[in-house]
Amino acid sequence: MTTPRNTTSEFELIARHFMRPATNAVLGVGDDCALLNVTNGMDLAVSTDTMVSGTHFFPEVDPEHLGHKSLAVNLSDMAAMGAMPYWATLALTLPSVDHSWLGAFAKGFFDLAEEFNVSLVGGDTTRGPLSLTVTIMGEVPAGAALRRSGAKAGNDIWVSGHLGDAALAVAHRKGKVKLDPDDVDDALMRLYEPTPRVQLGQALRGLATAAIDISDGLLADLGHICRLSGVGGTVELERIPISSFAAKHVETAEGLTAIVSGGDDYELCFTANPNSRESIDDLQNMLGVPLRRIGQIRRGKGVSLLGPDGKAVKVDGRGYDHFSAP
Ligand code: ADP
Ligand code: MG
Repeated sequence: MTTPRNTTSEFELIARHFMRPATNAVLGVGDDCALLNVTNGMDLAVSTDTMVSGTHFFPEVDPEHLGHKSLAVNLSDMAAMGAMPYWATLALTLPSVDHSWLGAFAKGFFDLAEEFNVSLVGGDTTRGPLSLTVTIMGEVPAGAALRRSGAKAGNDIWVSGHLGDAALAVAHRKGKVKLDPDDVDDALMRLYEPTPRVQLGQALRGLATAAIDISDGLLADLGHICRLSGVGGTVELERIPISSFAAKHVETAEGLTAIVSGGDDYELCFTANPNSRESIDDLQNMLGVPLRRIGQIRRGKGVSLLGPDGKAVKVDGRGYDHFSAP
């Protein structure tokens, strides 16, 4: 690969910031490949997410937050499949070598990696406009992964946590929404340091009939479950869990859009048979993660959103799509 023209060699950069013992791998960073031992009876779960400066994050964002988020969004994909994350690779494209930036980025990345016992086992480092690609690998018992395609008419629709905070933070940064000064830090933390629901995803194996993580907005992501399951869904607006500061904005068009189609929540949306309600309620106490029933899967197509009067609510925007016309 290309060596950034700088006094620090690429090897030194990797050794200084990204070489840590890979406790759960046969061989980690340093050779041509990492070597991983996959457990018998498990399926290997693999997912990749790229974050591009200016598209996925503000260029001046704190690198420690960026390190956290680049791994968190991948852990969230593992969560959505009910998989146990073990290994990650990191492809970094950097405009220049800035050791204090890299140190902070690595801290954010490895703090979260340690929390979830994930080892960084390899990657690539190139010069160019700032972009970060993480590939995550993990295991899920063969045949037990939570897919998007299993929802059935009559299933409940559930979401974890609360929705809209991250999108409200973005709208605030862009001047489209004015958050109370007391709420700004909380909203920004939800944008910069999302909590991937990894334990929840694993606990939902055998309970959820379908699952997805909410990265592009509730309506868009639930729409994926519906499309792939060949069903429709109805969501009741007043059941959607929101934080106290999001509640202040639900009456405005921008606030409503942030909550139902804003994205960047990294909460789980899943479907389950109504006879699983008690088990799912038990889970929220066990894991300390709020879980809320927000609607029902039905025969048909598409996702409808109902207001308190039972009438359909129209929302601007149907989730983020990189290639749709503006
Ligand atoms: P090659 O030229 O064979 O692709 P590289 O010089 O790109 O090897 O990488 C050397 C080693 O460092 C490999 O084990 C690779 O996986 C690892 N590596 C490179 N960049 C990173 C990074 N940003 N984070 C973690 N490991 C990295
Ligand atoms: Mg390489």
